[in-house]
This record gives sequence, structure tokens and C-alpha cells, in this order.
Amino acid sequence: MFLSDEKVFELIKKYGSPLYVYDEKILRKSCKEMHDLLPGKNLRVNYSAKANSNIELLKIVRDEDIDVDAMSPGEIYLQKLAGYSSDKIFYIGNNVSKEEMQYAIDENVLVSVDSLSQLESFGQINPGGNVAVRFNPGIGTGHHAKVVTAGKKTKFGVQKDFVPQVKELLKKYDLNLVGIDQHIGSLFLESDSYIKGVESLLEIAAQFPGLKFIDMGGGFGVPYHEGEGRLDLKELSDKLDKVLDKFLADYDNKDVLFKIEPGRYIPAECGVLLGEVYSVKDNYGTTYVGTDLGFNVLMRPVLYDSYHAVTIVKANAGEDGEEVATIVGNICESGDIIASDRQMKKVSVGDVVAVGNAGAYGFAMSSNYNCRLKPAEVLIDKDGCDRLIRRRDTFEDLIRNFV
Ligand SMILES: *Cc1c(COP(=O)(O)O)cnc(C)c1O
Repeated sequence: MFLSDEKVFELIKKYGSPLYVYDEKILRKSCKEMHDLLPGKNLRVNYSAKANSNIELLKIVRDEDIDVDAMSPGEIYLQKLAGYSSDKIFYIGNNVSKEEMQYAIDENVLVSVDSLSQLESFGQINPGGNVAVRFNPGIGTGHHAKVVTAGKKTKFGVQKDFVPQVKELLKKYDLNLVGIDQHIGSLFLESDSYIKGVESLLEIAAQFPGLKFIDMGGGFGVPYHEGEGRLDLKELSDKLDKVLDKFLADYDNKDVLFKIEPGRYIPAECGVLLGEVYSVKDNYGTTYVGTDLGFNVLMRPVLYDSYHAVTIVKANAGEDGEEVATIVGNICESGDIIASDRQMKKVSVGDVVAVGNAGAYGFAMSSNYNCRLKPAEVLIDKDGCDRLIRRRDTFEDLIRNFV
């Protein structure tokens, strides 16, 4: 928690509640950690911008010499506005239309396809072009079944043993395979599964001489629980270095570029979500703390049963004591829970709940469900000054697209 109690109340007074607050210094620190992950190697970092695509954050990430992954034409559009040139954007498509591929091609953005049929479609509209292929090494990892993005039971990537079919299609359409990529899943805190995935990807890479890049994917985790250990970047770096050296010894292009695609790791810890407490009640033995933090604002706990650390910021000094309580939002579903049965400071109406690690997959997944307004986003810059970087929705935003 990077905000003092006074600052929390000052920000809520100034910008309203609920409110996403990001700290520029923390964001830059995470960028640097990823940027410098493999000092001895030819490494580029692509930020997977779906984790948080606020344009002001994108500009900071770009300023830290980090490239970007796009998951949709909308992201490409936004990333260009943030100042990214085409060669710094990598479009990783999954089941996309030819029109979407064409958009990326017209924007001079490299496309990764993730099935044989998508490779065929790409060849039809862009014969002789550059392309990348996403493979599925058959190994997956992740904090929840919904975000395990490789392995034998997921929709992603081209099966490892379809290399001959890929080669056939490349030949058929005279395509130039510039790189291969993978992403095996989200939020690992120990490096073994990632390393296994990389080894598997390198076995595939060895079958394609002359690649310009090999993209090992994202998934780098941050600790969400109090006291949970951090991902050991030094250990990960050392292990990766060895595996890559072994691969390079036999590979024809010694200058091949390695890429990683962290999403969450970059903005997760720079963000905190603030919400006000409007009710406290006992309901048949459970204490419910009622806030404006519905799952339209932060969806992860409902969608993935995710844990986020919460801090109670007291409005009045001198109220002591602790309790076990459940923090809920204002959406008409009983699953609308931010934190269940947690030990916390005794809460009163008027206190503020601060939710940690809210910078990734927070605002990005927010919605207007229940015709709730999406919250504002505020940046605390390097000098400690706060600045609005996205205004709160208005009622007008709710009706903008009605015809
Ligand atoms: C979401 C995604 C990432 C980033 O995942 P994190 O777990 O947030 O690091 C990387 N690559 C691809 C293809 C993705 O879809």
C-alpha cells in the first residue's frame, strides 16, 4: 500500500469513489525488472497490454524501452496513439477474421496466427508476407483453469507435432516465418513450469532455421497474499540463461532475439483500488461490509476466486479492534464478494477499503453491468503529484451507442 491514510481520503474527496490509483515509480520499477531479466542475452520485452491499457500507462511503459503485444485491432489502435511504432507492436491473434488480420497488415504490424486454418487464411490475404506462429507445447500452467493457456485441453496454439503442416502452408503461400511464440499460462511464482515450456518451445524452434525471434510468453506472477514469496527473478534468469545457451550452441542464427510477454507483472503492483464503505451489518452470523466495489469494478475475485489483500483505512482515529468480515459490492448478485471472511480492522460506515495489486486485470475487465459507471483512474507521478488519467463514466456514456 503506497498511499498514506490522509492521501486516500484526499484522493477520494477530489476524484470520487470507487477509484483506481497507480504509482508511476512502482510501474517503472517493474518495467526495469523485466527489461533487465536476461542481461547476457538478446532480449526484448513485449508488454501484454490487455492487463491494463490506459494510454498514460502505455506511454510510461514505452518510455522504459518495452515493446507491446496486442490482442485486438482496438489495442493496436490504442498503442499507436500511445506512440508505439508498428515495428514495436506484435499482434497475437486468436480466432480472428481476415478483416482483423488485414487491419494489422495495413498497419504494418506483425501477426502471430495460432492455428493451421488461421495460417491458411493469412496466406490467402498476404502471400509472400512475414508471419509468426503460436505453438502449444502441450504443457500449461496458471493460477486458475480459465487462464491456463497451453496444454492438451486448451484452445490455444498449434500442436507441437504439426510442424510439417506449418512448413507446408508456409511454402504454399511463400510466407516468411520470422518468429514463433507461446504463452503457457498466467501467474506462476516458481520458474519450473515456465522453463519446461521454454525447453519445449526451443525443440520446436530448432526445426525452423533462421528465425528472427523466439517469444517465450508471459505469466510472471506477483504475490497476492500477505507474506507470499516473490517470483525469484534471479533464479529464473539463471535457469533461462542456461537453457538458451544450450539451444544457441546448435542453432544457426546466433543473433536470434528472445522475447518475453509479461502482462500482469508490469502494472499489477502499481495499482490500488479504493472504495467507500456505505453499510456494515450482521446477517445470520456473518459481518458484511458493504462498499461500492462491485464486480463491475474488479472482476477477478468473482471470475477466478482470486485473492486480493485488503486494507481498511479508518475515517476516525481512536476506533480500535479487529473483526472477521466479508467485503461485498453493490451489484445484485450474492457472488458479488471482494474478500470473504477476512481478519481486518473493525469497520465503520465512512471508512475506505483499499484493494492491493489492482493494477492488472482490474480496470481492464471492468464493465457497466447494472448500469454502473466505470471508475476514474488517477496516476501518482514521479514527483508524488496526482493526475486524472481517465475520468469516471457519466450517464451519457451509458447511452452513447443507442440509436
Ligand atoms: C495475456 C497474455 C500474456 C500475458 O499474461 P500475464 O499472465 O498477464 O503475464 C502474454 N501472452 C499472451 C499471448 C497473452 O494472451
